Amino acid sequence: MIAGFQTLTCGMARDPDLLNNWEKKSGERQKEYKKFLNRANKNKVLKQLPELNEEAFSTIDCLQCANCCKTYSPRFTPPDIKRISKFVGMKEGDFRDTYLREDEDGDNVLKELPCAFLGDDNYCSIYDVRPTDCARFPYMDDDFMLKRQPLALKNSTFCPITYFVIEKLIATEKGR
Ligand code: SF4
Ligand code: SF4
Repeated sequence: MIAGFQTLTCGMARDPDLLNNWEKKSGERQKEYKKFLNRANKNKVLKQLPELNEEAFSTIDCLQCANCCKTYSPRFTPPDIKRISKFVGMKEGDFRDTYLREDEDGDNVLKELPCAFLGDDNYCSIYDVRPTDCARFPYMDDDFMLKRQPLALKNSTFCPITYFVIEKLIATEKGR
């Protein structure tokens, strides 16, 4: 499933094994990630994120993964619903009834996973109008991981981009 991950970039050359068995390593290193996020220097982290985020997306092929679309529902905000229902030619109410439910926080989320808009080839059939949450996921280019630590930690267990960025931040802190 994750075969496309081994497209190495210059940044990877220092640690070509980083993505090998990443799910196992991430599971084993949750405590270290938590400690790092607790003590992280916000300004230093924010400075590194744009480049690390870019490096992660150029190293990891989301089309070989799609774990987020298979395991995690985005929130569908009212503007998302308006835009997507128009795109798929449905009334907003029918769209909600067909695809969405309200979660415990009152957010509209998918009734079922994997997402109904995910194709067998891992392409999103509503890509151009997808929910903002999908377009922003995994939120590695801003202070999300510092503000929403439990979610960032959870994401690191199924999203290799999140894992990659946190590992790189820790390596930089250790001077590796
Ligand atoms: S954002 Fe993360 S979980 Fe989603 S497809 Fe890309 S690498 Fe996989
Ligand atoms: S809308 Fe598209 S990007 Fe978002 S979860 Fe569904 S398939 Fe994935």
